[in-house]
Amino acid sequence: MHTKTLAQLSAMLQSKQVSATELAQHFLDRIAASDLNAFLHVDTALTLQQAAAADARIAAGTATALTGIPIAHKDIFVTRNLRSTAGSHMLENYVSPFDATVVDKLAQAGMVTLGKLNCDEFAMGSSNENSYFGPVRNPWDKSAVPGGSSGGSAAAIAARLAPAVTGTDTGGSIRQPASFCGITGIKPTYGSVSRYGMIAFASSLDQGGPMAQTAEDCGLLLNAMVGFDDKDSTSLERQPEDFNRDLHQSLQGLRIGVPKEFFGAGLAPDVELAVRAALDQYVKLGATLVDISLPKTELSIPVYYVIAPAEASSNLSRFDGVRYGHRAASYTDLDDMYRQSRTEGFGAEVKRRILVGAYVLSHGYYDAYYLQAQKIRRLIAQDFATAFEQCDVIMGPVAPTVAWDIGAQSDDPLANYLADIFTLSTSLAGLPGMSIPCGFGQGDKNARRPVGLQLIGNYFAEAKLLNIAHQYQQVTDWHQRSPE
Ligand code: GLN
Repeated sequence: MHTKTLAQLSAMLQSKQVSATELAQHFLDRIAASDLNAFLHVDTALTLQQAAAADARIAAGTATALTGIPIAHKDIFVTRNLRSTAGSHMLENYVSPFDATVVDKLAQAGMVTLGKLNCDEFAMGSSNENSYFGPVRNPWDKSAVPGGSSGGSAAAIAARLAPAVTGTDTGGSIRQPASFCGITGIKPTYGSVSRYGMIAFASSLDQGGPMAQTAEDCGLLLNAMVGFDDKDSTSLERQPEDFNRDLHQSLQGLRIGVPKEFFGAGLAPDVELAVRAALDQYVKLGATLVDISLPKTELSIPVYYVIAPAEASSNLSRFDGVRYGHRAASYTDLDDMYRQSRTEGFGAEVKRRILVGAYVLSHGYYDAYYLQAQKIRRLIAQDFATAFEQCDVIMGPVAPTVAWDIGAQSDDPLANYLADIFTLSTSLAGLPGMSIPCGFGQGDKNARRPVGLQLIGNYFAEAKLLNIAHQYQQVTDWHQRSPE
């Protein structure tokens, strides 16, 4: 049952081959038996209650395509009935008075919540090692990281602990863990998915999205997740669309832009091999490859690591030990209470970003760092606009290497930042991006570590991206492989 796609599970539920309750129990059993540290909070009674409600809805004939299908949420989305920690000691015991819009929309569609998923603290990281609740293990190789920050989400899909999950992507956190765990994930155009109830990291970049086994499944989820929300000031008002409407279109004549900056010296040979093989497969499907250039790619790292910490330092100022969050047990006065609470509540990476952010926003440095970064951000977006005059989609690696060993880079923040090189520019431009599994690394260790192919589309090209991914998944089986 756990190897089935959402589309298959949906058909089984509608034809009453399986009940929502049986399905939920099956995944709950798998979660209980797993040792990946992917799940932070599970409430069996709550899940079974939602499953019973889904069964009643199916019996009444009012089900949607998603009714009765289990889902788990990254612990960055707040939930009324389960704790919402953002992977932080600061919010260890926090229970939200409301559900995030995304959680609410998926529940309205009848999905059954399996629990909350581990992630890097406040979504800051690329390996899930920054979680206060410990690292998540990569199901393909338990000595490897699952990627981050949506590491619990990606691991849960790869280990078939859930058929669908939510993630968030600020600079790559859906695409990179999807790549490291051999699953499919899409970050939609900025503003498509409501940020209401998504614990804020960098508001001009944060974007929620689905992760699952296949592109078709991601489309089904996106259909229920996207939509205008007046509670999010950057939410886009657009006509509803069916993101799976183009799944069966031929790729004959598709122009794939291959940016030379994505294939430079930093790219591991085994990752390049898998990505080039995927490009060859697309040529067989009728596409042509076009050499393009995204000249500012390298600058995306300093630009992102100025803008994201700047926004984070502002967003995280709300955690002061007064309104909510951890409060130190002993302190001398008000200032000391803030200091102690924040010192105890935040982990090292979060503190590093608050310091960097406060620095680049401060008087005298604002013009030199923050303002410059904003200007280059605009130029990065223009690079993409120029590129999309020559091609319909851009493809390349998601990350320069396969997943690394747990602990290998945990005290080297710069190494982690550099590994974000291929995902940051898409986020800075607000464009949609996807990762689909396209093979494995090479050598004793890497042969069990997946490689992802990145697909970048123009604004609102999600349906096109899903079609392009789906066509590849019709002729390859990487997405069907699982570690078991
Ligand atoms: N790895 C990047 C960072 O650490 C991206 C994280 C994300 O997308 N949430 O900020």
